[in-house]
Amino acid sequence: MRRLRDAWLYLTVVPAVSLAVLLLAGFALRANVQVERSRQQSVFDATWSVASERVDRLDKMIIAQDNAVAASVDVTQLAALAARWLPTASRETPTVRAVMVVDLGHASSEVRAYVAPTPGPDEESFRRLVIQKLLPLMQLHSPPEEQLRHLHRTVSGRSYLLSYWQRMDGDRPLLVVVWHDISRLVHEVMPQLYRELDKNSRMNVIDARGRVLFGPAIRASGPLVSLPFPTTLYDWRLQVALTSAEGLEEKARRQRLVTLGMVGLAAVVVLAATIALVRAAREERRLAALKGDFVANVSHELKTPLASVRMFGEMLLTGRVANDDKRREYLKIIVGESERLTSLIDNVLDFAKVERGKDAYDFGEGDLLEVARRAVDNLRYRAERQGVILGLEGTHGPCVLDERAIELAAMNLIDNALKYARGTKVIRVAVEPLADGAKLVVSDEGPGIDEDDRARIFDRFVRGREAQAQRTRGSGIGLALVKHIAESHGGPVRLTTRTTPPTGSTFEVRLPARPPRWRPPRA
Ligand code: ADP
Repeated sequence: MRRLRDAWLYLTVVPAVSLAVLLLAGFALRANVQVERSRQQSVFDATWSVASERVDRLDKMIIAQDNAVAASVDVTQLAALAARWLPTASRETPTVRAVMVVDLGHASSEVRAYVAPTPGPDEESFRRLVIQKLLPLMQLHSPPEEQLRHLHRTVSGRSYLLSYWQRMDGDRPLLVVVWHDISRLVHEVMPQLYRELDKNSRMNVIDARGRVLFGPAIRASGPLVSLPFPTTLYDWRLQVALTSAEGLEEKARRQRLVTLGMVGLAAVVVLAATIALVRAAREERRLAALKGDFVANVSHELKTPLASVRMFGEMLLTGRVANDDKRREYLKIIVGESERLTSLIDNVLDFAKVERGKDAYDFGEGDLLEVARRAVDNLRYRAERQGVILGLEGTHGPCVLDERAIELAAMNLIDNALKYARGTKVIRVAVEPLADGAKLVVSDEGPGIDEDDRARIFDRFVRGREAQAQRTRGSGIGLALVKHIAESHGGPVRLTTRTTPPTGSTFEVRLPARPPRWRPPRA
């Protein structure tokens, strides 16, 4: 029944607690991952909005220049173009290198006007490039659409940005081309535009092949947003990484590890505590049951000799005794039974003292042989009645000991031999000197002790299976007391036992010359 309850405890409580811990761990991790994801999302959003604001800035700035040029270009008065545009060119359109008007109605697309604030040697080659290579790439409509468009191309390793729109001059379709100075855009405009931007981000501009044109190379450990310029420099991309987001990934990984570690630790602690609790509860129940048995055993042991004392006392009192021999025999029984009562009560009282722990022993220098002799003498009468030879051998064994306690231990061992080795002829008590102290040996030729019992019989209240089956009187505290006494003297109790012939048990109590807790009294 008890086993069943223990099994139930293990099978339900431990798995339930483990499951709860696992669920908790799962929830904690999931929450952690969700928080992490939303943090990453918000970092990405913030980076994205910074990047899109920056590409727009440059786009708007270029388009504003295009519009300024458009306001100066009157296709009906192309001769006045230079006069109208150039005075404001350096202020309003600083990155425009030249404005060119091409007659699309002409078979070989004749250039009708070309105005540049600072004419340079590459004018001719630019004209040729536009007519031969770039015109075919432009989105031209017929009838012409006046919409502003951009062409961003790399030709022979050189990058070109052209803004263009179509106009009609009477019935002639014209194309206005604005040539932007890419080098100025990169080296003057971009630094100017992006200079005052916050210090919380790193940005650069890369071309279609990933080469950095402006800004530093970015090796971002957080999210990196890369956006093309929407309408103007659409072959290039602007990249932004928030410095505040750097290391986020690593931080998140560490956070996850910490959470896992904490949950793991909590799980181990909770599981260990649960197992310890279940064990403690089981041990407590076992002890309670043993105590119950102990009380029943002691009561029974008290009752039996008391009943004999009373019975023989009454017989003597009423004079129903045949002769003097009988009377002496009855008196001897009464004395014997009272001695048994006394030793039982002594045992219980000493056990209680030992259990309380404090000042249980009174050490002093003594002779182990002398103490053993007293124990043997106390039990000699009982041994004789059982027809057992109780022999004592050995030499003077001086050691430090509590004489009363060692006598009690010896009596318990001899009493056990008398109880459990019934029917055998000899019980041997010996005191043998050791290099450092002496040892007390009690051996019998009884049935020996089962292997299963050997480890437990020194525990308090525990009785051997055979002893219980045979209903041998006992309380289960004798050997616990012997063990406690021996260990308090600094030595162990050794048991050697055989259950196959030649059977028998030998108990050895070793007493060192000086027990560890004993201090010699001051002179
Ligand atoms: P008790 O004798 O009151 O049962 P003890 O603590 O003295 O309690 O002994 C515990 C158990 O050890 C006994 O119940 C018995 O089974 C076993 N035992 C002790 N001494 C011997 C012995 N000499 N021979 C066989 N069994 C023994």
